[in-house]
Order: sequence, then structure tokens, then C-alpha cells
Amino acid sequence: MAKIAVIGGSFGGLTAAFELKRLLGKKADVTVISDDDKFVFIPSLPWLAMGIRRAADITVPLRPILESNKIAFINEKATGVDADASKVVTEKSEIAYDYLVIASGPHLAFEEVPGLGPDGGNTDCIFTLGQAEKTNASWNRFLESPGTAVIGSVQGVSCSGPTYEYAFEIDTELRHRKIRHKAPIVFITSEPYVGHFGIGGLRNSKTMMEDEFAKRDIKVIANTAVAEIAPGEVILKDGTKLPFKLSMLAPAMKGVPAVSHLGNPRGFIPVDGRYRHTKHRNIFAVGVAVAIAPPEPTPVPTGVPKTGYMTVSMAKTAALTIASDILGGPPPQEKPLDVLCLMDMGDKAAIMKAYPVLPPRQESMIEAGVRYKWAKIAFEKYFLFKIRHGLSNWP
Ligand SMILES: Cc1cc2nc3c(=O)[nH]c(=O)nc-3n(C[C@H](O)[C@H](O)[C@H](O)COP(=O)(O)OP(=O)(O)OC[C@H]3O[C@@H](n4cnc5c(N)ncnc54)[C@H](O)[C@@H]3O)c2cc1C
Repeated sequence: MAKIAVIGGSFGGLTAAFELKRLLGKKADVTVISDDDKFVFIPSLPWLAMGIRRAADITVPLRPILESNKIAFINEKATGVDADASKVVTEKSEIAYDYLVIASGPHLAFEEVPGLGPDGGNTDCIFTLGQAEKTNASWNRFLESPGTAVIGSVQGVSCSGPTYEYAFEIDTELRHRKIRHKAPIVFITSEPYVGHFGIGGLRNSKTMMEDEFAKRDIKVIANTAVAEIAPGEVILKDGTKLPFKLSMLAPAMKGVPAVSHLGNPRGFIPVDGRYRHTKHRNIFAVGVAVAIAPPEPTPVPTGVPKTGYMTVSMAKTAALTIASDILGGPPPQEKPLDVLCLMDMGDKAAIMKAYPVLPPRQESMIEAGVRYKWAKIAFEKYFLFKIRHGLSNWP
């Protein structure tokens, strides 16, 4: 029986584990190693930060869903991978594998900008459950005593979508409460223009986002880098000082320390078209852990987002490839990654589709409307249902 270890219990790790068990049944002994004991539906964290969701609404305990699918669960933090000996090392144990799937997501690199981040820094973030809960507390204080909000991301960001969502959500809610005039909003980003999203923009995303920020009276500072964040003040590299009462800034990402030695200088794993490590052939990587080169150099560095949709698609291809190795038979066809994403905008949402993700593209679209807000809410329920029931093969 092949021993398959999976690091990570989120979009990538769970999809890979469920698919491997579905494809290989008793021929594989699949083990998920995760430092978190629950799956968190990360796309709903901005709503949690707004007080629209509670943790219980968007989390699923991992052990029962894995064990009912005959997948072992080790709730420990991986501290390293010995690729030559084919072992994952945790604080308490060593797990030998024939195949390894790395789906360990990002290390959030707050340390790259002095004063950035909620732990010992001066800004909030919405990228983990704990951070989003803390941001919700800051938001409630802000509502009692509003002032300027500085929202956005610092240099090197790859996941900028949620910062747009948060800016539009607070704008909508402040208007709803009739206090928007007491709360100027400034949006800062390392992207060369709003709507770039780290992928060179898609269709008319630049003009659409410029219009949206203008209509909402949100001041945009694009193509910028942050020098430091002092208490209550963002200081840009050009010396501009932006005082704030509320600030949510997304950090750049790196690979997590346990696997970064297998990756590029930022710890992201180089893979081939089926997500197999370019050097260690029994190691696969999917999702945020994967190295994807930006489509174009930007004056201030930005990275390529790896969305949930892209992550699930990578995990399915990796699982099919491992299954074809073990069972014999042809591997799945390589195909360029596409993306389908629903971005909340408070009173509506935008749908974005691109095939392939990076230009030049065969197809792309971006469109906003209230119906996409309903689609985003429906998708949250659908994905949580899929995860609770291990239905990774559903679309
Ligand atoms: C706020 C926010 C909103 C988003 N909204 C959308 C959206 O609307 N649509 C969309 O498509 N995408 C969205 N994304 C992107 C999406 O969340 C990611 O693509 C997805 O989470 C990537 O999945 P992953 O499995 O690669 O990594 P992650 O989801 O980050 O999971 C990593 C897993 O590895 C575990 N782990 C990490 N280190 C270790 C270790 N050393 N040992 C053991 N376990 C470890 C973690 O606990 C976790 O279980 C959003 C992202 C954010 C931050």
C-alpha cells in the first residue's frame, strides 16, 4: 500500500487527500498533517471581520471528516521535510511517505515591513481566523469613534483581492450607517494600478476599479511601497504619512519554513505542469505553496494570486498524477490554469474569469452585479457542504 502524506488541511490539502482516497481506495494509506484542527473557509474571513459571519459558520472540524473518509489525521505542525529520506518531520513524530503533497499555504511575511501586522505591529489583517476576529474588534471600536481608514496591501503582495473586498465592504457599511462622511478611506497598493490584481489586469478591470473607487470617494494610492507603520500612521517609502484610526493591510507571502528549503528564494515550490516538484519526483505542491512567476515586472513588486479555484484544480491534477503513477496508465493532460473568482463589493459583487490566468488569454471577463453577491453567498454554502461530505470530485 502506497503511503501518501499531505501537509495542510485546507483547499489544497483536503482536495488532494479526498481525491487520492477516492482514486486509490485501499491501495493508498493517506495521512493529512495539519497544525490547525479545522478547515476554515478563508474567502468568508472579510465577512467575519465585518461581523456578518461567526467562526462556527465557516469552519469544519478536520478529524471527523477525514476519518469518515478513511484518511488518517495528524494534528501537528510540520517542522521540516527530509526529501532524501522521504520523511515529514513534526515536533513529535516522523512520517515516512512514498508520495508527499505540500499544501501548506503561505507564511504571512509581516516581518518585512516594520510595524506591520496584528501581532506586535500596528495594523490589522483578515487572512486568518484569529486576525479577522481581531479586525472585527477594531471595526467595532472604529464605529464608535470613526476617522480615517487606510486599507490595502504592502509591496510584494500576491493576494490583493480581499483588500478590495474589505475596502468596498466598509464603504458600504459606513454609508448604510450614515456615517461615511466621518470616515475618509484611503486605499494603498503596490499594484501599478487598481484592478491589476497581480495578473496584469483582465479585460477592463483597470477602468472598472478606478471608476468604482472614484464613485465611492475612496482615495487610491497605487504603485506605492510602505516604509513602516508607526502607531496610528502608515509611512510610505516616498515619505507620505497617512494617519489612520483603522488600518487593514495585507502582507507579502512566502513559503512556510518547514518546506521553504525545497523552494525558490521566497520558499515557493517549483513544479512542472502536473504540480510535481522539478527535482524531487515523489513530491507534489499545490495552491499558495507553488511558485508562479509574475506575468510582467512591476515598478513595485507584486506577486501572482493563487486563488481557491486554482488551488482545487492543482490538487485534482496532482492527485490524478499520483494515482496514475501508482496504478499505471497515462497521467492527466497538462492544461494551463484558469481562474473563476467572485469578489465581494459590499452592496454587490464582481465575477472574474480568465483562461488562462496569465496573459495572453483566450477568454476573460469581469462584471459586477447584485446577482454575483448571491452567487458568492451560495458558493460559500456549497463549498462547505462539499468539504463536510468529502465530495472533492464535485465541480
Ligand atoms: C481573506 C482571503 C479571502 C480570499 N477570498 C478568495 C475568494 O473569494 N475566492 C478564491 O478563489 N480564493 C480566495 N482566497 C484565496 C484562497 O483562500 C487560497 O487560494 C486558498 O486558501 C489556498 O489554499 P491552500 O490549501 O494552498 O493554502 P491555505 O488555505 O493557506 O492552507 C494551508 C494549510 O496548511 C496548514 N499548515 C501551514 N503550515 C503548516 C505546517 N508547518 N504544518 C502543518 N500544517 C501547516 C494550515 O493550517 C492550513 O491548513 C482568499 C484568501 C484570503 C486570505
